[in-house]
Amino acid sequence: MQIEKVYEPQRFEPHWAQWWIDSNIFRASPGNPGRVFSLVIPPPNVTGVLHIGHMLEHTEIDVTVRWHRMLGDNTLWLPGTDHAGIATQMVVARQLKEEGVNYRDLGREKFEERVWQWKAQSGDTIKRQMIRLGASCDWSRERFTLDPGLSRAVREVFVSLYERGLLYRGEYMVNWCPNCLTALSDLEVTHAETAGHLWHIAYPVNGMPGRVLTVATTRPETMLGDTAVAINAKDARYLDLHGRTVQLPLMDREIPIILDDLADPQFGTGVVKVTPAHDPNDFEAGKRHNLPKIQVIDDHGRMTAAAGPYANLDRFEARRRVVAELEKSGALVKIEDYKLNVGRCDRCKTVVEPLISTQWFVKTKPLAEKAIAVVESGEIGFVPANWTKTYYEWMYNIRDWCVSRQLWWGHRIPAWHCSECKETIVARETPTTCPRCGSGELKQDTDVLDTWFSSGLWPFSTLGWPDKTEDLAKYYPTTLLITGFDILFFWVARMVMLGCEFMGEIPFRTVYIHGLVRDADRQKMSKTKGNVIDPLVVTEKYGTDAVRMALLQGAAPGTDIVLTEERMESSRAFANKIWNAARFLFMNVGEGAAAASAAEPSIEDRWIVSRLNAAAETANRAIEQYRYHEVAQELWKFFWHEFCDWYLELKKVSGTGWGNAVAAFETALRLLHPAMPFLTEELWQRLERKPGDPTSIALAAYPQYDPALADPDAEREIAVVQEAVTLARTLRTEAKLDPKQQLQGVLYGRTAALAIAQRHADAIQKIARVTLEFKNEEAPKAAVMRSTVDFDMVLDIPKVAEDPVRKQKEREQLEKNIANSRRQLGDEVFLSKAPTKVVDSIRAKLADYEAQLAKMV
Ligand SMILES: [Zn+2]
Ligand SMILES: [Zn+2]
Repeated sequence: MQIEKVYEPQRFEPHWAQWWIDSNIFRASPGNPGRVFSLVIPPPNVTGVLHIGHMLEHTEIDVTVRWHRMLGDNTLWLPGTDHAGIATQMVVARQLKEEGVNYRDLGREKFEERVWQWKAQSGDTIKRQMIRLGASCDWSRERFTLDPGLSRAVREVFVSLYERGLLYRGEYMVNWCPNCLTALSDLEVTHAETAGHLWHIAYPVNGMPGRVLTVATTRPETMLGDTAVAINAKDARYLDLHGRTVQLPLMDREIPIILDDLADPQFGTGVVKVTPAHDPNDFEAGKRHNLPKIQVIDDHGRMTAAAGPYANLDRFEARRRVVAELEKSGALVKIEDYKLNVGRCDRCKTVVEPLISTQWFVKTKPLAEKAIAVVESGEIGFVPANWTKTYYEWMYNIRDWCVSRQLWWGHRIPAWHCSECKETIVARETPTTCPRCGSGELKQDTDVLDTWFSSGLWPFSTLGWPDKTEDLAKYYPTTLLITGFDILFFWVARMVMLGCEFMGEIPFRTVYIHGLVRDADRQKMSKTKGNVIDPLVVTEKYGTDAVRMALLQGAAPGTDIVLTEERMESSRAFANKIWNAARFLFMNVGEGAAAASAAEPSIEDRWIVSRLNAAAETANRAIEQYRYHEVAQELWKFFWHEFCDWYLELKKVSGTGWGNAVAAFETALRLLHPAMPFLTEELWQRLERKPGDPTSIALAAYPQYDPALADPDAEREIAVVQEAVTLARTLRTEAKLDPKQQLQGVLYGRTAALAIAQRHADAIQKIARVTLEFKNEEAPKAAVMRSTVDFDMVLDIPKVAEDPVRKQKEREQLEKNIANSRRQLGDEVFLSKAPTKVVDSIRAKLADYEAQLAKMV
């Protein structure tokens, strides 16, 4: 067996990535035996390139999926991408703009063609990246939300919802982006508190000279569209004015004074202006009082002809002019500073304008009831469990979902409008004549559906629904969903609603919500901060396995993940350690591997089998509970601190039974495989295989805990060896001796441990590089002594001449450490955020450094 000297993941990772696919290792089949484990990917945007958040998500998914596959489950990880309506349309429109073309001039068909072209060229980027990073998806089942099959599912759901009375078209106040020129769902608007003003404006009451009603507004330009002012029926201050009218300043329009709860006697002046066309609450009040709706702002955020002298002005310019005019005329009573909540378009950050428009809505209340019930009954569980509360809060307060978007890229709404009689026809197949008037003049609705409409069907549309496919029967409901909290409502909630409605069954049993990847200072990563870690750059630098391991180490449920260069660096060292262990083993096994494997297990063989068994118990339980950090820590501890640091050292001393060592290593590789798939496949493929063994470690059995393999006797024996060696090492470190220098000493012991130590005298002495006498007696007081419960060890430490250069270096290092600790302890931001445990340990270290420095001077 030969193995390259240096661990170079770049040499073999791309090879295995492709080989797994070419060999159909991840291919699922409904006919396969085993329990079903199925999972659909949160489809990344087709515009996307892989970012570190994807890599975390895919690593967590991949660990769980590979584990299930190795357990012998019938495992499917279904991949795919989302057409991502607005996002994609913006990318291509921007490209066209760079070529000097306005996409609107191109026309709908040409533009769509252009997007498909773009998708063919760059839409596969994220897939290629995922393959390279070893995501064990079944690529033969890859789906795209605009595939013909998925589009059929979308149409079926739209029409069925309409037929069931759960979908309607109506005139409503929507969030409108004057830049993207489309309606937005509530979720696509981000709100932020912004410093603004409250303008108090006096409206003269008609027929009562000198009497005014003062309204307060944050958006004075909308007054141009006022059609009433409201007072509260319980507000004695104004009751005498009910039935009268006011004169709208600037527009010189007479508008009624109405009684409505919209006016809150406790807020402002107790009088409010009513603008039904530009405010959602006023829109409702307008309906109650049959008020006209005067639209003074258009789709582009410009003032309409109805705004009179302000027509064609931008809405913000109109605000300045309106305020100036009011001031000039004396109608502006006062201006207050006021904090208001401004909604902006999630995509382009333009201030959203509430506008009345005709849109398609899904009636969500009846759907939400079912979606609440399946979580209450425990059919669907969230991990961590606190997300359940967030889910309920949203579901209980759900509003109808505006599903139409004024875009070109997406699923066109399957509705047709008759030009003759204005009838609207919703149908699965394109109609040719109007069923009401027989006219052939039918025009399809120009809107497309919200991107989340199609991804809401993802768990069943990807498995072939509305057809009754074998895949659907076998893999639905899926077992698990792993995703980020940011799409809990956009996506997870909608999948639950639509899955329950159309499949009559939940879409998944468990939802695991992962954290965010943050930088060394716990900051969110963002392009503007320049702290973004590109997964492709770091995997090239450290190897995919090392980056995966670094991510997993921080991935405790319910916490964010800190990813640093140091952590990736040390994970690479971990991979390197395993590589070197393999090299060492392979060199010793030589040709006689098979013969050697029959050897009677030695004490260290029994010990490593017992440790491996314990590690398997922890790893299985931790993966099952999504405690990825624990999996990583256990594997790290096992490979580094048990297998490499002790077992291989003990093997060097005994020098025999290499076959047993290789067998233990093979089991350990399988244990590590879900976390570090490339390294383990590369090494596993070099081991000798028996006929009938699987072709890939990805298909080999995952090690399971076996009570028969626990060996407390062997564990006790090796623990004694470790205890004695550690004593000698401590003494040596304290004396600052060269670790290679051979020493002499005595091991005093008064318990049964001494006999054990004597039995392993050879191993202890060789590993610790000491020649020991073993004495069953009390140790004399000695200067260079260290003790444990079982032993006292005394070593003859030779006097070493003091090295002034080394001493100076040590002093400098100590001073540096002290300065660092003091800086940390003086940083208030750090202190307020860091856990107490961390702060305490820094304090303790600082005290220790200071004591050491004091001793030196
Ligand atoms: Zn926008
Ligand atoms: Zn008609």
